[in-house]
Amino acid sequence: MFKNIHTLKPDTVIKFYLAKKGVSKKHKKNINRIKLDLLNDTKIYNKLASSGKFHEVSGKISNVDEDSKKSLKKLYETYVKESGVKKFIFEQSLYCAGCQKGYATDRATKDHFLPSSTYPNFFVLPWNLVPICGDCNRAKSDVSPKSSKENLPHPYYNTLLFKKNWLKVVIKKAKPLKYELTFDDALKPSEKQMVENHLIAYKLRDTFNRHMSVLFDEFDDGLRERFVNNGSANLKLFLDGERQRVHVSPSKLKTYWPINIEYVFISGLHDSDWFCDNYYR
Ligand SMILES: [Zn+2]
Repeated sequence: MFKNIHTLKPDTVIKFYLAKKGVSKKHKKNINRIKLDLLNDTKIYNKLASSGKFHEVSGKISNVDEDSKKSLKKLYETYVKESGVKKFIFEQSLYCAGCQKGYATDRATKDHFLPSSTYPNFFVLPWNLVPICGDCNRAKSDVSPKSSKENLPHPYYNTLLFKKNWLKVVIKKAKPLKYELTFDDALKPSEKQMVENHLIAYKLRDTFNRHMSVLFDEFDDGLRERFVNNGSANLKLFLDGERQRVHVSPSKLKTYWPINIEYVFISGLHDSDWFCDNYYR
């Protein structure tokens, strides 16, 4: 969870820009004209993000005209970086808010959680700028929720994606091995819906399936050898050790809990008696 992001004032970029000498008078005039409306919009953003009701946003916020939209775009392209907001955002986490894999900083991109094409009001709002990897940014299209069923969990506001088992892997009885991503039984129906929306928005089923398939290829020979030499109970014990080994503990990260797809997958193998007893027979 990115808690520190809320220490940034919502108008950090705007203030920085207005105080700066020698920048375009035209843009300054536009921003000055709408800045109170924008500040009010950020209060609405905060409220709807906290309650997971972004589908209500369009009727509640101010209307930004084309000219001001251009000025906000200019601010985003230049002053998010200059004001230090960009640096602050990327200092919060080295994990992608979409796939939750660690990324190298040079592959990190900023995503407008509510798309700037539909909601220019939040073009430079720090809370609307989320660090994600290049792959997830390419996968995510500019969708915004139209109904309560379409909301995504916001990484700065919603702890849902930070639960240890927000996903589960179920092993199908099949050779070659088949497995299915599903939801943790402990999640409420509305939470499952949000996780599902998150998976769809970032096309994560494909990403995770690819990741698990590579992982299983790496493991396969070793697991077979263990089963043949030491039996199924030993295989289960080994898988238990492996899932502990790959689990990224929240105490190590303090502010962010990555998805642990490897943990989820190996747990799925461990929890399947069929896999431990029969797959290598
Ligand atoms: Zn990603």
